[in-house]
This record gives sequence, structure tokens and C-alpha cells, in this order.
Amino acid sequence: MRTLILSDIHANLTALKSVLADAGPFDQVWCLGDIVGYGPDPNECVTLIQSLSPLKCVKGNHDAAILGEIDLRVFNYEARDSLLWLRNKLEPQHLQWLNTLEERLVFDDVTMVHGSPRNPIWEYLMDTVSAGENMSAFSTQLCFVGHTHVPGVFQFNDDKIGSTDYYAMTDGSEFIPENKVIINPGSVGQPRDNDPRSSYVVFDNQTNRFEFHRVKYNIEQVQKRILAAGLPRRHASRLENGW
Ligand code: ZN
Repeated sequence: MRTLILSDIHANLTALKSVLADAGPFDQVWCLGDIVGYGPDPNECVTLIQSLSPLKCVKGNHDAAILGEIDLRVFNYEARDSLLWLRNKLEPQHLQWLNTLEERLVFDDVTMVHGSPRNPIWEYLMDTVSAGENMSAFSTQLCFVGHTHVPGVFQFNDDKIGSTDYYAMTDGSEFIPENKVIINPGSVGQPRDNDPRSSYVVFDNQTNRFEFHRVKYNIEQVQKRILAAGLPRRHASRLENGW
């Protein structure tokens, strides 16, 4: 079975379509949250994600914010501006659907959260210290996170007590877990590892192999829609820098 693993689409429909076209056939989809926020196509992205089946999806911090679960003042002012814009733009049925998403899903040998297993909505797993501290916060072998917009894998290392190794993942990288792992597929709609291409992962459970992929999309088209929508200019400019 081939599982397509996505995160941080951030209302970028062009990027999402490129990923779906590039990924080839898949049997199911796991989505790690932040479908909306920053980008110009929130309704279209929710509709497209909803249409994928079977789908498992958790709630991100931007999704939680638009549901009124997080005070907008904790966001930086540009993220806040786009959330205020989104309030008027997101259709009620899409808001309702976001409201059905859980913060954490656990099934088979898989845990799914947006941020981290100990703080599903808000913690950024940027380093091996915080990842190591989180290894005891989930009981499955595999844990999937998004939120940092940087693709990579943290793997628990039995040899050194309490140690966790980090593997940065680029286009074409593959990973076969040997221990407990926290896997981040990177971001579809707003990558932040200086590679502007959309990031995603395909998991083949026959071989237990995770393939990391990058795919180009028409950034200029999305930038035009961001500016036409009156969203902050930096949301447009950062896309071409992959930051
Ligand atoms: Zn995000």
C-alpha cells in the first residue's frame, strides 16, 4: 500500500495539485494539518483535501486559530493578517469540517500530530534535544509531524542513552526506520528549507520505505493571487525563496 503524506498546504492550491499529480497512484492520504493560512485558496484546498479518500487528517495551529481556539495575538502580525482575511473568506461548511479534525490520531503503529506529540498544536521540533524529549510522548513506532515546514527524520538511538539522530531529507532521499522515529514530510504550500519546491512523502508499507520528494509548481501564479487578494506581500515573496 502506498500512502501519500502531506503537511502545511497553507491554502496553496497550485502546489497541492502539483503534488497530487507528481505522487503517482496512492491508496490513502495522511495530512498533518495547516490546510489554511498564508495562501490565497483556502476553500479550494479544503475541498480538494476532503475529496481524497481514504483520508486521515489532524488539525494544525492555523486551522485551530481560525476556529477561535487560539488567540490571534500569539501569531506574528503577517500570519495574523492572513488569519483575519481568512475569517471573511472561509465558507461555513469548510470551517465546520476543520472543526471535526482531531489534534492527535493514533492507529496501527502510527501517531499523527501537527506540532509535536507532547504539544500537538504548538511545539516546533527543530532540534534533536526537543525531538528526544518527545520520544516518550508517543507509544507507536512511527510519529508524523509537520509545522516546521522542513522535511526530515528524527530517530531514537538505543546505543546512546537518550540520544536522537537527525536526518535532513532532500528530493529523492529515502528512509527505512530502524527504531522509533518522528518523520516530517515538509510543507506542500510554503517550504522553509530554502528549496521552494513543494515537499511530500510517499510511504510504501511493503518495503517500510519512506520516499521524500520535491516538485516544482507555478509560484508566480500563486504570488499573483496572494497580491490580488490583498494578503501580506511577504507571503508572496517568501515562496520563491523557499522560506
Ligand atoms: Zn504551517
